[in-house]
Amino acid sequence: MPYKFATRAIHAGQEADPATGAIMTPIYQTSTYKQRYPGEHKGYEYSRGTNPTRKALEDCLASLENGKYGLVFASGMAATDCVLRLLKPGDEVLTGDDLYGGSYRIFTKVYADYGIKFRFVDTSNVEAIREAITEKTTLIWIETPTNPTLQLADLEAIGRIAKSASIRYVVDNTFASPYLQNPLDMGADIVMHSATKYINGHSDVVMGALVMNDVELYKRLRFYYNTCGATPGPQDSFLTLRGIKTLHLRMKTHCENARKVAEFLKIHPRIETIYWPGFETHKGHEIAKRQMRDFGAVVSIVLKDADLEETFRIASRFKLFAIAESLGGVESMVNHSATMSHGSMTKEERERVGVVDNMLRLSVGIEDADDLVEDLRQALG
Ligand SMILES: *Cc1c(COP(=O)(O)O)cnc(C)c1O
Repeated sequence: MPYKFATRAIHAGQEADPATGAIMTPIYQTSTYKQRYPGEHKGYEYSRGTNPTRKALEDCLASLENGKYGLVFASGMAATDCVLRLLKPGDEVLTGDDLYGGSYRIFTKVYADYGIKFRFVDTSNVEAIREAITEKTTLIWIETPTNPTLQLADLEAIGRIAKSASIRYVVDNTFASPYLQNPLDMGADIVMHSATKYINGHSDVVMGALVMNDVELYKRLRFYYNTCGATPGPQDSFLTLRGIKTLHLRMKTHCENARKVAEFLKIHPRIETIYWPGFETHKGHEIAKRQMRDFGAVVSIVLKDADLEETFRIASRFKLFAIAESLGGVESMVNHSATMSHGSMTKEERERVGVVDNMLRLSVGIEDADDLVEDLRQALG
């Protein structure tokens, strides 16, 4: 029997240090490794390609995503970039119209210049995906739940489409974390993470990850990883490993707190719309119930009768929710999506996917839920 999630979060990929018995994986702060004889080494040659601290993290993450192989990167965007290197001019990528702003930016402002075409569809609509596939489609890139309106994509249904058309299928699992959702089990070929968010969870590291099962795909991605070189150092790898040890505990509290916050906001007179997959009225609720273990801790709100200025004023009244880019840390954060995470989209593109000027995205932390609700109460007035 494989160990359960919490046990793997603490032990997978991690053995006591053979040299000293140290329980914690040491920070192997070294760029290179002494060889006994030219070409005779212990599996480590140069730290761009391999480092023992980083390897422990990669093995742990692979285990948590029910995958065979893990690769970690200096950021989530570096992980995304590595996947996009699989593409050739003329290829088409099918992706969501409600994407993380940085993904949208690398697609449209970097890879589009290399002759790769990106089609943006509503990925909560499986038929829209099926219809948008052409003979040139070689990659499907899905985010679920999406940022910031938390739309759900049916991972298994998309997996079946991708498989029947032999299209590579990638899922950005950042918002759910491996604790809530495991896309490889639902047909994905690659799971991508911004480990900066829930996986590390302490807002002190920027880190990305890919997990997969196919050995040939792993070898190809590992080739780009070593060749292009956006690999993280051992300090950050150590911190992320340390963060992961409490991933299950943090996620449980994140989700509990989010429910309390969402329930308070849902009936608040200053709220026009609230997005949270845990509500039965949320469009993707049934899919979320089926493919996630809980509903996550990102809650987005649209303020009633508030212009940009009033929205900013409310955001600046929070005492606990910090105005910040990012999410998934132990501390609560509030993000103004239109000017922050989605700042690289035009106003028109943003509004088409519901990112209006009077929207705020909350990343509910693991402080006491009563204090968080009180903070929202005072800020909303
Ligand atoms: C933050 C984020 C990324 C980018 O990751 P970085 O670690 O910031 O480079 C990608 N996708 C999603 C959904 C994110 O939230």
